[in-house]
Amino acid sequence: AHQAALAARSADNLRSPICCILGHVDTGKTKLLDKIRQTNVQEGEAGGITQQIGATYFPVEAIKQKTAVVNRDGKFEFKVPGLLIIDTPGHESFSNLRSRGSSLCNIAILVVDIMHGLEPQTLESMKLLRDRKTPFIVALNKIDRLYGWKKIENNGFQESLALQNKAVQNEFKNRLDQTKLAFAEQGFNSELFYQNKSMAKYVSLVPTSAHTGEGIPDMLKLIVQLTQERMVGSLMYLSEVQATVLEVKAIEGFGMTIDVILTNGILKEGDRIILCGTEGVIKTNIRALLTPAPLRELRLKSQYVHNKEVKAALGVKISAPGLEGAIAGSRLLVVGPDDDEDELEDEVEADLASLFSRVEKTGRGVSVQASTLGSLEALLDFLKDCKIPVANVGIGPVYKRDVMQCGIMLEKAPDYAVMLCFDVKVDKEAQEYADQQGVKIFTADIIYHLFDSFTKHMDELLEKKKEESKLLAVFPCVLAPVAVFNKSSPIVIGVDVVDGSLRINTPISAVRQNPVTGAKEIIDLGRVTSIERDHKQIPVCKKGQPSVAIKIEMGGNQPTYGRHLEEKDMLYSKISRASINCLKEFYRKDVTNDEWQLIIKMKSMFDIA
Ligand code: GDP
Repeated sequence: AHQAALAARSADNLRSPICCILGHVDTGKTKLLDKIRQTNVQEGEAGGITQQIGATYFPVEAIKQKTAVVNRDGKFEFKVPGLLIIDTPGHESFSNLRSRGSSLCNIAILVVDIMHGLEPQTLESMKLLRDRKTPFIVALNKIDRLYGWKKIENNGFQESLALQNKAVQNEFKNRLDQTKLAFAEQGFNSELFYQNKSMAKYVSLVPTSAHTGEGIPDMLKLIVQLTQERMVGSLMYLSEVQATVLEVKAIEGFGMTIDVILTNGILKEGDRIILCGTEGVIKTNIRALLTPAPLRELRLKSQYVHNKEVKAALGVKISAPGLEGAIAGSRLLVVGPDDDEDELEDEVEADLASLFSRVEKTGRGVSVQASTLGSLEALLDFLKDCKIPVANVGIGPVYKRDVMQCGIMLEKAPDYAVMLCFDVKVDKEAQEYADQQGVKIFTADIIYHLFDSFTKHMDELLEKKKEESKLLAVFPCVLAPVAVFNKSSPIVIGVDVVDGSLRINTPISAVRQNPVTGAKEIIDLGRVTSIERDHKQIPVCKKGQPSVAIKIEMGGNQPTYGRHLEEKDMLYSKISRASINCLKEFYRKDVTNDEWQLIIKMKSMFDIA
C-alpha cells in the first residue's frame, strides 16, 4: 500500500508531456491522429482517452494497451501519467505553443511520406524543431504503399516487415536509405528506431501506416521513451500557471472564445486573466471553462461541459468578456492573490513588444504580416536568417492602413515596398490600394515560399535596373582615329582602340586643347551606334585588336571634323560619377582590373572627384 501511495504521488507530480504532429501536407498527419485516437474494440475500450479542446488526452493505461504488441514482455516501463496530443497538426499549432520564446511542446512527431521523402514543409518543420530545440521522432508513413505490402492490422513494425517478401523488404531498405541521406543533408543523423543506440544523437525513424495501423504501437512507445529519456526534469508538475492561446474563435452562445493549452497549474472559473490583443493587452475574468461533452452525452443541449476548475496538462476553451482581438500564440497569465496586476500586464505587453521591436533601426525594410504571434516569430526568425530587413510588423489580416504603412517605403527604399504575409487574408480594398500604389503583396502558407517570392522580386528589380542602366553604364576606352570617312551627322571614322574596350552605345568625347586659349576642351560627339570590321558588325572591340570603322550619332547638332575637332585628337568614352557608380552596382564582375585602372586615370580628365 505504501508503494502504491508513492507511485500515485510521483505520477501526480509528473505531468503529461505535450506532443505536436508536424510535416508536409498530405503526408498523413490527420489520418495518423485519427488512427491513434481510435479505440480498439476487440481489446476492450482503451480506457479514458478524452477529447479536449484542441487536443486529445491519452492516459497511460490507454497507451499501455496501444503499445502492448511491442511490449509483450512488459519490460518497458511507463513513468509519465499520460500524453497530450495537439489535434491540429502543422507548424501553426507548434509555433503557437510558445512561452517567452521557448516551446511548450515537449515532443513532436514529424511525419514524412515514405514514398515522397523530404518535402518543403518537412524542411520548414525541421527548422522550427531545431530552433526550438524540441526532441522529435520521424514517422515514415504510408508503408502500406510499398508495392506488394501485406498488412497485419495494428501490428508492430518489425514483425510486419519480417513477414514481407524480399522485394518489399528491399524497396523498404532503399527508401529508408534515401531518407537517411536526405536527413543527413539537412544536418540530422537518423536511424531506424530499433537500430538507434542513442536517441540524443540520432533521430529515430519509425515506419508507420495510418491505414493499417502498423508501426503505430512503435511510434507511441517511442514517444514515451523519448520523453522519459530526454525530459523528465521539465515535466515536473508546477503550481504556477503556464498557458498559451492556441486559437481565437467566435462560438454561438459564447461570443469570442479562446482555446488554451494549459501546460502547468490550475485554472478556475472567475480567475482574472491577462493576454495579448491586437488593440493592446486584454484583461478579463474567466466566465466559463469549457471542455467537450463526452460522446454519449452529445444529445444534451450544449456540446460543452462547464468546469469549476481544470488542471494541467489539457486543452480548454475559455469564454470571457472582451476577448475580441485576442492573439493566438499569446501567453495567458493569471492574476494570483499576491500578484500585481500592472506588473503582469507589463509582462504580457513585453511579449508583444519584443517581436514588434525586431525591426530595422534604419526604418528600411519589408513589411511583415502573420496570423499569430507564433507564426510571426517563426517568420521573423526566418527572415533574419535570410538577411531580409524588416521595417514593419503586423498581426492579422492585411488592411489598407498596413499597406499605407508599407507604402512609406516607396520613397525611402522602393525595393522594400513589399509585404510578406504569412497565413493571413488580404482585404480587397487593401489589395486594390496596393496595386494602385505599386506596393507588392506576397502571401503564402509556407514561410520560405515568401522568401522565394521576395528573392524573385529582387532579381526582377535588378534585371530591370540593369536594363535601364545599359545607357548609363560606360566602359572606359581610349581611341586613336586613323581615318575620317564622314565628317559629321553621322561621324564615321576608322579607329584603333589603344586602351580599354569599345562597346556599342558608348558616349564619346574628344578631349583637346583649345588652339587659341590653350584651355582643356571636352567636345561631346554622341554615342557609338555601329562598330564594323571587314563589313561585319561586332559588339565590342578590345585594346590591341585590329582597327574598326565606327559610326557616332547625336540627337542635336553634331560637331564636325575639320571644324570643331581634328583627326589627331584622341577620343575617350565619356565617363561620369553616375556611370562609374552604375558599373560598380551592376557590372562589377564584367569590369577588369585594367579597366578600373583606366577609369581612375580618366577621372581627372573629366573632372570627376
Ligand atoms: P495531412 O495533410 O498530413 O493531414 O494528410 P491526411 O491525413 O489528410 O492524408 C492525406 C492522404 O493520404 C489521404 O488521402 C489519406 O487517406 C492518405 N494517407 C494517409 N496516411 C496513409 C497511409 O498510411 N497509407 C496510405 N496508403 N494512405 C495514407
